[in-house]
Amino acid sequence: QIADDPIADAEKEVRDWAKQKALEINKLQEQAQFRKEFLSNISHEFKTPLFATQGYIETLQDGLIDDDPDIAKNFLEKAARNLDRLSYLIHDLDEISKLETGIISLTIEKFDVASLIKECIEDLEAKASYSNIQLRYKGKANQPVFVKADRKRIQQVLINLIDNSIKYGKKNGRTSISIYPLFDQILVEVTDDGLGIEEKNLPRVFERFYRTDKSRSREIGGSGLGLAIVKHIVEAHEQNVNVRSTEGIGTTFGFTLAPAKNS
Ligand code: ADP
Repeated sequence: QIADDPIADAEKEVRDWAKQKALEINKLQEQAQFRKEFLSNISHEFKTPLFATQGYIETLQDGLIDDDPDIAKNFLEKAARNLDRLSYLIHDLDEISKLETGIISLTIEKFDVASLIKECIEDLEAKASYSNIQLRYKGKANQPVFVKADRKRIQQVLINLIDNSIKYGKKNGRTSISIYPLFDQILVEVTDDGLGIEEKNLPRVFERFYRTDKSRSREIGGSGLGLAIVKHIVEAHEQNVNVRSTEGIGTTFGFTLAPAKNS
């Protein structure tokens, strides 16, 4: 009988042990690879706008500033845009390293997430109007939805998601922000009718520095860190974030929050 065979038992134990070790080694190798890629991504992301800015300034110094003031103005604008990108990068990198090393602790309080959403919409309305995108809160007017979370951090999550819906939205489009009470969670969703994300890219959008269509994303600006920050903040609250998208139709990012009593 196989069940009583001590040799077979011992062999199985060794096989399980080897399997476990192989998994551990695999994980360490993945981490090492990840670190390597992370560093090379950082230096690449910094070099691109830095060298571009240097190029524009050198050309201006070489005489363009006097020779052709119109092109010179355009070069100055491009240099400024590249510097903006560098400053996003530094800000976001700083955020992510604080989040990852746990330097930032959450300040959990009870607040009305419906009014927070309305505030974020107000802050981004001017930016959305450049592309004639409408930002809408779809909940009931004047009905508070109380949650327990770090208000400032959740504001950052909402700003990053709504900002993306504008960046990757289409002209004359619309972004809706909705709240759904679930059994023991509150679900917040940000839905746009923009570019959408290819299915194969969906699992990767929360990775640091991951940007789907490189050329387009780069033109739009941003650090490629926004969604990684979103994921960190939501997971620090022990909640979940998810995405669903159809190319050419639009994208929905959702995250959950812990409810608080409405009193
Ligand atoms: P970025 O600074 O590039 O916006 P994010 O981490 O915020 O970085 O987003 C990662 C990538 O996911 C973006 O470059 C873009 O390709 C894709 N993405 C994010 N939000 C949306 C959206 N609402 N619609 C389509 N693509 C999106």
